[in-house]
Order: sequence, then structure tokens, then C-alpha cells
Amino acid sequence: MTVRPVVNRDSAFFWEGTAAGELRIPRCNACGTLRFPPGPACRACPAYDMGWVVASGLGTVFSYVVHRHPPVPGKELPLVIALLDLDEGVRMVGEVVDAPDDTIAIGDRLCVDFRRIDDELTLPAWRRA
Ligand code: ZN
Repeated sequence: MTVRPVVNRDSAFFWEGTAAGELRIPRCNACGTLRFPPGPACRACPAYDMGWVVASGLGTVFSYVVHRHPPVPGKELPLVIALLDLDEGVRMVGEVVDAPDDTIAIGDRLCVDFRRIDDELTLPAWRRA
């Protein structure tokens, strides 16, 4: 069992993207401002007309936590969760894989990878660039 994200009308494009091997970021069709997480409205102008762009999949660790307890369904601990600044300028939370928890550091460069969980869910995972 895996903890599953909430998929709704505003975030469906994101999860369709991960399934296709793309990291998609919402972009306002009116003013071009990027935002994350997905939502119905632009944060920079009054528009409710959101599209998306495919991100480069590269980012920098802004901060991170190492989760050691309590257990998380479907996960081996410790779990490294990073707050990433994508090169496109938005901030995103992501799981860091293949990086022992004592080797991750603020400022590390990470690139996105995708882990297919099942037919309906593919999760982004981050590893050293
Ligand atoms: Zn806008």
C-alpha cells in the first residue's frame, strides 16, 4: 500500500504528466506566471485560465527532512523529503531516492525521475543530478 495523492480537476494534468514521464508545472495562460502547487487561479493576476509547461526536471535542495519514525505505508525508512527550488523558479516537495540520508545537503542539485506505482499512479522521485 502506498500513500496516494489527491487527484482532482486542478491536479489531474500533473499526474497525467508523471505517467508520461513529464514534470508539469501550472502556468497562467493570461500572464505566464508559474505556480505550484496546482490550483484553479493565478496568484499574480485575476485569471482562472491555467495551462502548464513541462519543467526541465532539475532543481536545488532548499531544505529537507529525514523521516525516521513513525512508519509510512509502502515506504522504507529513513525517508528523505526535500523542499526543492526548480530551475523554473517554483518550489516543490519531493522524495529523494538513492541518497543515503547523511549525504543530502542544502544546495545539492537533483533531477527528477519517475516511479510507476500502478496503472493509475506514477510518483516523481528525485536523485542526484
Ligand atoms: Zn496570471
